[in-house]
Amino acid sequence: QTGDSRAASIPRYVRINTTLWSVDEAIIHFKAKGFTLIEFDSFETSTISKRSFAKDKHIPTLFLFHTNVSFQDEDAYKTGKLILQDKASCFPAFILNPPASKASRVIDATAAPGNKTSHLSALMSNLGTLFAFERDRKRFSTLQAMLGKAKCRNVEPINADFLTVDPMDSKYSTVTHMLLDPSCSGSGIINRLDYLVESEQEADPSGQQLEDRLNKLADFQLMMVKHAMKFPSVQRIVYSTCSIHAIEDEHVVRAALKSEEALAAHFTLARPHEVLPGWKRRGYENEMDNPDDAASLIRCLPGEDATNGFFVSCFVKGSGQRKRKH
Ligand code: SAM
Repeated sequence: QTGDSRAASIPRYVRINTTLWSVDEAIIHFKAKGFTLIEFDSFETSTISKRSFAKDKHIPTLFLFHTNVSFQDEDAYKTGKLILQDKASCFPAFILNPPASKASRVIDATAAPGNKTSHLSALMSNLGTLFAFERDRKRFSTLQAMLGKAKCRNVEPINADFLTVDPMDSKYSTVTHMLLDPSCSGSGIINRLDYLVESEQEADPSGQQLEDRLNKLADFQLMMVKHAMKFPSVQRIVYSTCSIHAIEDEHVVRAALKSEEALAAHFTLARPHEVLPGWKRRGYENEMDNPDDAASLIRCLPGEDATNGFFVSCFVKGSGQRKRKH
């Protein structure tokens, strides 16, 4: 139960696991089941027929269906060919854009239940190594099950706290790309279907209690970003949350940009045109030290973007938004 009518404005998103299936094979499959492929721009959630589907405009492996279409009993879902994942939750791996080569070394620092891990693995064409950390034992089991179902062959799941990993450990010192999708307030979630397991926390009531909690979460989130920046070969770090609160989003990014770790390794934000250029809604200018930085940040607003609320940032070493004055 979502208790939120805005949830009805979110299509049923289905991501094709390209490890097992191609987008064209999926289209043939859906058509054979009686669905009609329509243009993305004609897909209007309130009026769409239950028999229509569309290919997403921003994520090439994602399809949109009527909100009430269920895939739980579909073989393609049970065998891992289809992954039920909200559109915004597909942005981080897509923006990280990890290389697909035998030499690729990538970390997913906060992996369970593994939707983004399986997306990263598919983007890497199952090549190289994707280290997937998860500190919670129970959620780690869920991650392992998900990786098995999605047939991810290049993932090494590790039941450990990412903050305890030594960046200079030779196993990880060659990692070039990192995804950080840490615990957050979950305040952006209006359609809990896709996030029942993905987000491990319930949103809090408002008031001082909420503010205290957000500040604590932000301290932890910042610690994670700063730790990621210490890995000597890392070139690109995506930090994301399913929170709509600037405290966990722009404020964490702004503090990370000013941190010793960022200054030492010359991290800046990726330029706006490198971060999902077709997506209009960007970060809040008034929450950043440099308002121009907001154009490099992605926001999704529940009820307005046909997704849950979400935030994505991308730090790059060396050649990003601009050099900062120390
Ligand atoms: N990326 C996941 C996905 O798309 O399926 C969702 C991640 S969820 C928002 C955050 C996860 O990070 C939780 O499972 C939590 O247990 C884990 N976590 C939090 N702090 C961690 C840490 N320091 N090291 C490793 N995992 C951590």
